[in-house]
Amino acid sequence: MAIEGQTNVRSMRVGSGSIDGLGRELGRFAVATMELPWALVRDRLGATPAVVLEAGSMEIETLDRQVAQAAGCDTLLAIGGGRAVDLGKYASWKLGVRLVTVPTILSVDAFTTPAAGVRRDHRVEYAGTASPDPLVIDYDLIRQAPADLNIAGVGDLLSIHTASFDWELAERSAKSEYPFNADAVARARALVADLGSKADAIAACTDEGLQAIVDGCIRLNTICLPAGHFRVEEGSEHYLFYELEERLRRPFVHGWIVGLGVYLLSRLQGNRADDAVEFMRRVGLRHQPKDLEISRADLEASLLNLRAYVERRGDLWWTVINEREITGAWVKEAVGGLEF
Ligand SMILES: [Zn+2]
Repeated sequence: MAIEGQTNVRSMRVGSGSIDGLGRELGRFAVATMELPWALVRDRLGATPAVVLEAGSMEIETLDRQVAQAAGCDTLLAIGGGRAVDLGKYASWKLGVRLVTVPTILSVDAFTTPAAGVRRDHRVEYAGTASPDPLVIDYDLIRQAPADLNIAGVGDLLSIHTASFDWELAERSAKSEYPFNADAVARARALVADLGSKADAIAACTDEGLQAIVDGCIRLNTICLPAGHFRVEEGSEHYLFYELEERLRRPFVHGWIVGLGVYLLSRLQGNRADDAVEFMRRVGLRHQPKDLEISRADLEASLLNLRAYVERRGDLWWTVINEREITGAWVKEAVGGLEF
């Protein structure tokens, strides 16, 4: 399947069973994966990889050691979720070899973005650029993952709701770091509206629903890659996540915590918060602190620290956090409707 527009995905192979025999096309190949997805796929590839790299720590030193093990391979086959895909992207970029990506879960959009999310001293960094050829979307395989984790893939698309608003706000305050692009914002919002029109299919993880998430991620790339940044999709809702991650030093289901960010920051923005919540309810996107095991005390402390946090970092874009003060009274009210 050919892909239109500037995107990171060179080609796509779609349909249940599309992983069967895939290994026979790859020459000498290395697999980047984790135990669970590998167990689902290994006997269906029709060929044995030269080496299997297990995604674990994403610290850059660990990744470089793993890349060395894959030297001499023609293809990096990434099979799994965000970490396995990021390891595959990083290794294929470092080695300069073809990348084939098989997401076994749609929880994060790593399978469509060019750079690999890695860690240096626990902080996220984006390294390199790699494009899957092909991206393999096997619906039955993806449906073996928990439905609410596949639906988590919607989080980084719904974040357009708050992030695009942040960009407009920055533009009005003459603080935008990039030339403002009203057309990009309009296209991003249309993407969210189209997702909303498939809410039932997404909630049920039908072929159509899973494909809607994949297509949404690819469409987002056609907006963001030509611009050279993800301003329409990343804003204050992600900055709350960064603060919480640094505070609590543990991983979260990305789409869920972004959903929590959309819930809270759309309120701070005065930006149709009820619509965002209704969208999450219809597609089944979990976002409650209870789901994320975040205590009320931690969430309140995080919100109260949020402006100081973004100002201290200095590398984050201008958002509502810079403009509207987060008071104790606002925090009490905003978290009042959440479940802990
Ligand atoms: Zn994100």
